[in-house]
Amino acid sequence: MKEVSLKIFHRIHPAKEVLERFKLDIAYSCVFGNSEKENIIHLFSHCEHSNLFWTDMKDYIIRKIGTNIQIKVFDVMLYSTFNGLSIKQNYKIQLLVILGKFHIHKSKRTSLKPSFHRLIVELKQYCTSIEYVKNSKAAKTFCILKEMNFV
Ligand SMILES: [Zn+2]
Repeated sequence: MKEVSLKIFHRIHPAKEVLERFKLDIAYSCVFGNSEKENIIHLFSHCEHSNLFWTDMKDYIIRKIGTNIQIKVFDVMLYSTFNGLSIKQNYKIQLLVILGKFHIHKSKRTSLKPSFHRLIVELKQYCTSIEYVKNSKAAKTFCILKEMNFV
C-alpha cells in the first residue's frame, strides 16, 4: 500500500499517460469509462468515479469522527495532516486515504469502478484475516479499524 503512495508521489504510477511515451497500441482514455485522458491526477482524483469514492469516504469520516473535513487533491496525491484534529484522528484519516488510494489502484487493475462500499467490505475481510496476526503493526492497524467499526 505504501508502494502505491510512493509511486503516486513520484508520478510513476502506471496511469496510461505515463505509458503513452512507449507508444503502445492501447486506448488512452480512463479505465473507469470516461472519455477523458487517463493521467495520475485524473485517475486518483478528478475522475467522476474516483471523486464519488472520495466524497463517500469523506461523508463516512464525518459521520464517524463528527468533524467536518475536506479531502482535496493535495491530500490524495501527497500526504497531509488535517488541522483541528487529534493525532489519532489524523492517523485514522491518513490510513483511510492510503487504503483508498490502494483501492483505486486495485480497481484499475481489475477494471472495476472504485466503490467505497466495496472498500468497506474488503476491509472487513482484511480485519478478519489479520485479527490473530502477532505483529505490532498489524495489531495497530487492527485496533484503528476496529474503532472505526470495520470489524
Ligand atoms: Zn475517469
